[in-house]
Amino acid sequence: MSATRVESVEVRILEVPLSRAFWMSQQAYMTAGQVTVSITTSDGLVGFGQAHGNPMAEIAGHVRERLGPALIGRSPWEVRSLWQEMFGLSNAGREEVTTGQPHFGTRGRYQLLAAIAAVDIALWDLRAQAAEQPLWRFLGASEARIPAYATGGYYPNGDGDDAGIDQLLSEVASYVELGLSAVKIKVGRDPAIDITRVRALREAYPDLRIKVDANGGWTLAETLHIAPALRELGVFWLEEPLQWHYGPAHHHRVRTEGGIPLAAGEQEMHQWGAMELVDSGDVSYLQTDATRAGGLTAWMDAANYAHMRGVGVAPHHDGHIHGHYLATLSGEKYCETFPNADRDPLWHALYTDKPTLADGHLTLSDRPGLGIELDQERLSAWTVMSHLVTQS
Ligand SMILES: [Mg+2]
Repeated sequence: MSATRVESVEVRILEVPLSRAFWMSQQAYMTAGQVTVSITTSDGLVGFGQAHGNPMAEIAGHVRERLGPALIGRSPWEVRSLWQEMFGLSNAGREEVTTGQPHFGTRGRYQLLAAIAAVDIALWDLRAQAAEQPLWRFLGASEARIPAYATGGYYPNGDGDDAGIDQLLSEVASYVELGLSAVKIKVGRDPAIDITRVRALREAYPDLRIKVDANGGWTLAETLHIAPALRELGVFWLEEPLQWHYGPAHHHRVRTEGGIPLAAGEQEMHQWGAMELVDSGDVSYLQTDATRAGGLTAWMDAANYAHMRGVGVAPHHDGHIHGHYLATLSGEKYCETFPNADRDPLWHALYTDKPTLADGHLTLSDRPGLGIELDQERLSAWTVMSHLVTQS
């Protein structure tokens, strides 16, 4: 095992057009997409990782040009050291940046952190496979059955005043039929319409745990206006209410004046950002996403920090990755799921083996590693770019 080396790193961009637009407060999902990384070792193991973000070509470019070549010939077991090395690139210069003022912009850091995420997740998958253990057990859990909730309730259109109540209620009915007792729906537009949606849901399901996600749609004034009504409707958490430019002081006002628990962190790039959210005392549920923000190495630090400080750990997306470490935490924790196959065809059709969603919980597989098996036909059909990095 110790002599094992990385032989190749394959990076792909997967993209699937959705059957319709799924609107959040300001933007729509028109496609499902992800960057995937497969790391093959000298003893024939293949570790799988994935990243979310955009532009996907830039994320894949970091793997192809920087991370992949640096990994060839290296020991895959040194995952934390490799993470430090990869993260170090975020502070290194890039010769190819030759136009414009170089010290403005983010220098591709979002994309680099997402690329690191895919590589890092694949390295953890490899470690657990080599130990012939599911990753959750490799990380120390005795079982992997995590409380789950469904995300849905997207707006039916990009603007207009259609609250989409009938569609919302029939969609949520399908989640309740699946045994889910917690559902998250989209808000963040006209507060009057949003309250109509949440009230309709509350009246139809008095005991449902309702979470709402504004995806940064509201001003401070709108948020302070709507928060008490959401609280009265028993909303469990309010996610990312404020437009992007607001800071910690504004979130503090929403928490103290609005009186409703806040969920945040899916936009954070790394564990230090997550730490600041936790330290603010205003975030009740931390949502940092391992597939965006540096992988499992970074996310486990963030999750552990939140856990230690009594903040709930509720990562954005991808329970088949986050669930492995959530299984080790004793505090409040939730997996996000997307039971609507039209919204998330990658989850529903990319894997021939994956965690199961039943009785309100996501249960991870006993197979070694991440415990997922890719459908190779679908993988090929949905690949819009691939590149194999090998020893040159
Ligand atoms: Mg969200």
